[in-house]
Amino acid sequence: MGSRPLADTYGGYRARLVETLRAKGIRDLAVLRAFGEIPRHLFIPEALVRRAYDDTSLPIGNQQTISAPSTQARYLEALALNGTERVLEIGTGSGYQAALLTYLCRRVVTVERIAVLASGARTALERAGIDGVLVVTGDGSIGYRSDAPYEGIVVAAAGPEVPEPLLEQLAEGGRLVMPLERGGGQALVRITRAGDSLREETLGNAQFVPLIGRHGHTGEPS
Ligand code: SAH
Repeated sequence: MGSRPLADTYGGYRARLVETLRAKGIRDLAVLRAFGEIPRHLFIPEALVRRAYDDTSLPIGNQQTISAPSTQARYLEALALNGTERVLEIGTGSGYQAALLTYLCRRVVTVERIAVLASGARTALERAGIDGVLVVTGDGSIGYRSDAPYEGIVVAAAGPEVPEPLLEQLAEGGRLVMPLERGGGQALVRITRAGDSLREETLGNAQFVPLIGRHGHTGEPS
C-alpha cells in the first residue's frame, strides 16, 4: 500500500486542500500527506467533481454523505496511527476515508451495510490504484471478527452507544473513534483500551448519519 504518482490535473487542488486543513489546525503530517495524495474526485458523484476538493460534505447517494475533509482529518488524527496498525472502519460510504487510511496504517478492513455503496467504493478504490483494502458488505455494528483485534477502529455513523462487539475487537492500547448521541446532539468520542479498562475522552461535536444495525438503530434493510 505505498504511494504512486497520479497522472491527473487535480494536484494543485489537493495542495490547496492540505493548506486549508493545516489552517484548520490539523498537524499530523502523515494525515496531511494522505489528503495530498488521494484523488477525492474519484470517490464522489460525477456531477459534483467541481467541488471535490472543497472542505465540504457531499451527497454520495442512498441518503448518505461523505464527510467534510476537515472532519475526516480530525478523526484520522484522533486515531494517532503510526503505520503499523490494523484498522477497522465502519461505514465505507464512498471509500475515500478507507483510501486515506491506507497511507496511515498496515491493514484496512471496512464494512458497509448498503451493497451498492460497497461495490461503488471497491470500484473507486481500484480506479485510484489502491489495493489491499478489504471492503465487506454487512452490518458493521457487529464488527468483523475474522481480522480482529484492531489497533484502530473508526465508526463513520452515529449511535446511542459504542457497539459492544467493537469494544471486544479493540486491541490492547487500541483507539476507537465514534460519534455518540448525547443530549440532543452528537459528540465525537475516543475510547482507548488499557487491559480490561476503557478510557473515554470527548473530542468535540459531530454530525453524522445514523448507525443502523443490530447494535445501532433499527432501520429498513436495503
Ligand atoms: N467514511 C465514508 C462516509 C461514511 S457515511 C466516506 O469516506 O465516504 C456513513 C456510512 O455508514 C453510510 O454509507 C452508511 O450506509 C453506513 N452505515 C450505517 N450503518 C452501518 C452499519 N451498521 N454497518 C456498516 N455501515 C453502516
